Parts: sequence; structure tokens; C-alpha cells
Amino acid sequence: MRMPKAAMHRPVDPSSLTAPVRPVPLDETDHLAGGRLTIDLAALAANWRSLAARSGPSECAGIVKGDGYGIGLEAATGTLADAGCRTFFAATIAEGLRAKAVVPEAAVYVLNGFPPGAAALVADAGLRPVLGSLEEVEDWAALGRSRGRPLPAALHVDTGMNRLGLARDVATSVAADPELRRHLGLTLLMSHLACADTPDHPLNARQFEAFQAARALFPGVPASLANSAATLALPATHFDLVRPGIAVYGGQAVSKRDNPMRPVAVLEGRIIKIREAGAGESVGYGAAETLSRPSRLAVVGIGYADGFPRAAGSSDATGGAAGWLAGHRVPLVGRVSMDLLVYDVTDVPPGAARRGDWIELFGDHVPVDDVAARAGTIGYEVLTHLGSRFSRDYVGQA
Ligand SMILES: *Cc1c(COP(=O)(O)O)cnc(C)c1O
Repeated sequence: MRMPKAAMHRPVDPSSLTAPVRPVPLDETDHLAGGRLTIDLAALAANWRSLAARSGPSECAGIVKGDGYGIGLEAATGTLADAGCRTFFAATIAEGLRAKAVVPEAAVYVLNGFPPGAAALVADAGLRPVLGSLEEVEDWAALGRSRGRPLPAALHVDTGMNRLGLARDVATSVAADPELRRHLGLTLLMSHLACADTPDHPLNARQFEAFQAARALFPGVPASLANSAATLALPATHFDLVRPGIAVYGGQAVSKRDNPMRPVAVLEGRIIKIREAGAGESVGYGAAETLSRPSRLAVVGIGYADGFPRAAGSSDATGGAAGWLAGHRVPLVGRVSMDLLVYDVTDVPPGAARRGDWIELFGDHVPVDDVAARAGTIGYEVLTHLGSRFSRDYVGQA
């Protein structure tokens, strides 16, 4: 259809661009979206404290990359700081700046370092890059030289991940270069484990040995190797500072073990309608699942556009994720749509599954890792993909 010219060129009233948005009364915000995300900051703080207690006397850092594992970087940073955390790791400079704005006095490391030409920006913001390549080491030393003082940074040595970090021969040559060393204010020597979620994986021992060799190259520099899984299951890797991420956010860190952490993020979807469907009928796109009995179905207003993984859907061939309603586990039926999910609530008493009720998609009863496993992924990905359409309620603030 051709638009009439007048409509295409209708001038914009400039005052309409700045007109205040009508504030939404608090008790109405629940009505605006199909889901709600509740983030329990008391659980976040408790998880961090329990990891700090397990790893003591090593320092326990806070990892706030991935927008604080999806729950919000500022809320995560502030809560962990209140719990006693003094050292933070963000992924990008932008995230580092956000963390620094919340905790100006804390040490904030940037895991992904900095691109060419950005060293001064990082230093001026008071951020500490994690130097992961010879180029970054040389840029940071050059800045330290030009400013007449070594600037704080972590040095990442690769011990088997082949991702970031200096290869062993490069680390050896940096260690042997007194001119370079003089202009580097190394506050941390770190590496990262590839298989800590599987504590008896042979690569853990090899990485541990390689890290010990790297420590011998940089005597006196505080050392850090452990992520969540290693903090929980490999105490020999604690060194001076541990870096647990996912466990603080309540996720499963060590495979095939009970998860000792408290859930932090609870995602609920509202039931839009309850409907009946007969045995032999199919549900949703692709007619992927056929009902084996007369069923009561709850249609919920969340979908993959909200970050709920499409791969967690159910079909005749494979079961999908389950939710939780009124004490009952309720399985997904059929595919995950953009904005809708369908759960089988046949076994829930009718009075407990009504239009307007909330189904827990993951949280206190359904581990986020179970939903992730059904989708062939990990809790980290489900959390960091959470969308922005539903309300986020932060509870349990200190
Ligand atoms: C993400 C990350 C961590 C935290 O890992 P978890 O598995 O979430 O505990 C620690 N160190 C580095 C270098 C990381 O990139």
C-alpha cells in the first residue's frame, strides 16, 4: 500500500518528544507484561558470603560480566560490595565503567583487555585491564613509562584454554624483560580453567602445573585461578583470590553434584487462558506434540522473544522443560512460540490453575539449569539471554 504523502511527511511535534511518560502506578506494572523476573539480592549476597567463607583466607572476587549474569550489573555490583566484596571483574570496558560508577573505591578488572589506542581511557577510568596478549602488555607498559609510574593490571597466562592469556613462551620472555616489567604494575597473575566443572578431568591437573610454573616466573604477584567450580571442588586452586561467577548467581557450577547455592533469579509467566484439548489433538506450531490424554492447558505470555530458549520446547520425540504451579511440576507442551508457552496443567486442581495465575518457569522449584539442559545449553546462557520485556523486581536489598 502506498502511503499518502501528507502522512509520510507529517511534521513531528517537538514537544511530543519530551513529553513525560505517564508514570505507571506500581500495582499496575504487573499487568503490562506477560512475565516477571524477581531477583533475590539477599540470596546473591548469601551465595557470595558462603563462597567467601569456603575459600578463606583467599580473597573472593565478584564477577559481574554478562550484565551481572543477566540480573543487572549495577544491582549485582552494589549488592556484592555491601556483602564485603572489594575486587570485581567485568568483561568489557563499558561494563568496567558501569561497575566503577557503583564502587569507585574497588578494584575493577576488565577481562577482555582493551583495543589498540584505548589504554589511556582504561587507566584514566581507574580500571585494571587483564592483559591477555603481548600487544596489550606492551601498550600498558608504554603507558606506564609515559606516565612515569607502573599502572595496575592483571596478567593472564594461558595454561590450556588457548583463548586469552599469554602463551608460555611469551610469558617467559615478558618475565625475562626487566625494562618491560619495570613499567607494569602487576597486581594479579591469573589463568582460567577449561574443565573445572568436571573436577577429575585430567586437564585440571595439567593447567594447575602450568600455572605453578607461571607463578615461578612472577614471584610475589598475587595469583588467581579458580572459577566457581574450582572454588567449590578444587581447593588447591584457590591461591590468593577466587573468581566465582555462576555459583554466586545461583547456577550449577560442578556437574553431577547437588547445587549448594540459593536461586537468585525467578522467572514467572502469567496464565493468559486455560483451555481443554482432546487426546490426539496437537498443540502449537508444527503440530510437534500430540496429546495422549484429554488435557487442560495453560497458555502463558512469555516466549523466545523474552529469552526463554526455543530449544526447551517439547515434541512427541523429546520432552521439554517443565514449570511449577501450586506444588505441581507442569510440563511444557509443544514448541516455544515467540510470545507464548503452553503448559500441561491437567494434574493441577482446577482452582489452582486460573487465568491470571503465575507459573514459575525457573527459580525456587525448577532450577534454571534444568530448563537449560532441556534446551541443550547451560544456565549461564539462559540467564544472560533474559529479555527486557518483563518487569524486574529486585527483592532482599540489604
Ligand atoms: C567468567 C569467568 C569466571 C567465572 O566463571 P564461573 O564459571 O561463572 O564461575 C572466572 N574467571 C574468568 C576469567 C572468567 O571469564
